[in-house]
Amino acid sequence: MVPYVAPPTTRRPGLPSVGAMNSSTSTIRSYDAFAGPGDPGYDEAAISFNLAAPLRPLGATTARTVADVQNAVLAADSAGARVVPVSTGHSTGMLGPVADRVHVLRTVLDQPVRVNPDRGIVQIPAGARWDDVVRAAAEHGYAVPHGSSPTVGAIGYLLGGGMSFYGRKVGVAANSVVSITLVQADGGIVTVDETNDPDLFWALRGGGGGFGVVLLVELRMIPMHRVLTGMIAWDATDAAPVARAWATWAATAPRAVTTSLRLLNAPDAPETPEPFRGRQILAIDGSIMLDDDAPENAGDIRRALAEPLSSLVTPLVDTWHVGPVTDAVRTHADPEEPIPYTSDAFALAGIDDDTIDRWYAAAGPGSGSGLIAAELRQLGGAFAETPPGAGAFSGIDAELLAFNVGLAVSLEGTAQARLDLLRIRATLRPYTTNRTAPTFVEEPSTPRRTFADDVEARVDEIRKRVDPDGLFALDVRRSSGM
Ligand SMILES: Cc1cc2nc3c(=O)[nH]c(=O)nc-3n(C[C@H](O)[C@H](O)[C@H](O)COP(=O)(O)OP(=O)(O)OC[C@H]3O[C@@H](n4cnc5c(N)ncnc54)[C@H](O)[C@@H]3O)c2cc1C
Repeated sequence: MVPYVAPPTTRRPGLPSVGAMNSSTSTIRSYDAFAGPGDPGYDEAAISFNLAAPLRPLGATTARTVADVQNAVLAADSAGARVVPVSTGHSTGMLGPVADRVHVLRTVLDQPVRVNPDRGIVQIPAGARWDDVVRAAAEHGYAVPHGSSPTVGAIGYLLGGGMSFYGRKVGVAANSVVSITLVQADGGIVTVDETNDPDLFWALRGGGGGFGVVLLVELRMIPMHRVLTGMIAWDATDAAPVARAWATWAATAPRAVTTSLRLLNAPDAPETPEPFRGRQILAIDGSIMLDDDAPENAGDIRRALAEPLSSLVTPLVDTWHVGPVTDAVRTHADPEEPIPYTSDAFALAGIDDDTIDRWYAAAGPGSGSGLIAAELRQLGGAFAETPPGAGAFSGIDAELLAFNVGLAVSLEGTAQARLDLLRIRATLRPYTTNRTAPTFVEEPSTPRRTFADDVEARVDEIRKRVDPDGLFALDVRRSSGM
């Protein structure tokens, strides 16, 4: 193992010092940085949320301090290994076959989420999950642009762009990132922002990875105490008119509204709550941002959504309510424990009756779909805009994001799920755009056209500059296909 020599550090005033981030280890150690298969610590680091895509890397380690990260990077570099940094394993399925050739560096820094209410900024250490960030921000009267799962890691989500239920108002979450601190291939630590290496700052935000190991992200928060959130659901058998009505409403909804329309196949199992058990459900959930200065608007907005829909067909449940912003992170009821699955994602140009009818025919009652979820997530608004100073993936010019997921338990079940995914993609093909949202692509075979070729070329140049020997080359997610 190489003895460690601390490289130069550039640091922006206001950030915690490396010493502060490194409080649990005051001196940098030299040690066997990665565990091999069967060694203690290997399984904890080589994690995959998708049980159908287990990881079996050459080596794996969990870094809890900045020094751990630096040691692992330098050890891998001196051994000619390829490093893939991860946090929670929610998208390690994207590695596909290269997973066998990499060294996984899991980052779970022993640092709290810190809120600076005066600056409206939250500092997120690598390994923090959205649940932690949402709670910390809420204590100070702020919301953050989290996704639909409380257990997704904030760092991987933000580096991929991040599509939140506040996105039609605030845009892709990466656009709210203020600075990023990372360990680079030479073991050095740098903080990049709009003035310090703005090119790398740009590339890190949605460029597809391969730049280093992120230690800390500073994120701009949203001043908001309360949110209108929840789920309303119908038996899908007679809910086709509701889907159309949602589409009409969603097409002109204010930007404060970001919702999702889903067809869910609820298992016929004792743990499935009534009245969902064994049924196909049509559900609408999401968030409607409330103005702290005019909370009475909540009732009007809720009535505008729920009453026209409920009058068409009586819902099975309706949990939409005004609550603390912490409620919004669980409103989509995403699985919080790993499951085996296969998925597909693509964007759709418009919200019109034909799109909705095709979707219902391909995934709804009588389609034969066994998918656990066929989803249309509302885009448009600020999702489609590129604000000044945005990152490499700054937005997506589409009205809907289709995200479909099936269980991958047996060979037969997986094959059936893949057929369902293909049928929905084929049925909606006339309306697909040539772009997708990077964070929703979870398998290497799924087309992942994120941005134009000239953007990819610029990202590649920056990668070559910061990682000339390709230490992180197998962490790169290219913009391709479609
Ligand atoms: C149930 C579920 C719900 C989801 N909901 C949403 C949603 O609503 N909106 C949305 O946009 N996305 C959503 N996602 C996708 C999610 O944002 C991505 O899977 C994201 O990449 C997860 O990041 P992670 O750090 O948790 O995962 P990991 O698998 O640990 O990391 C994924 C990638 O992020 C990068 N990365 C992670 N940590 C570091 C680090 N410290 N340094 C450098 N690179 C790092 C690496 O490239 C790594 O390969 C969801 C995923 C799941 C499984």
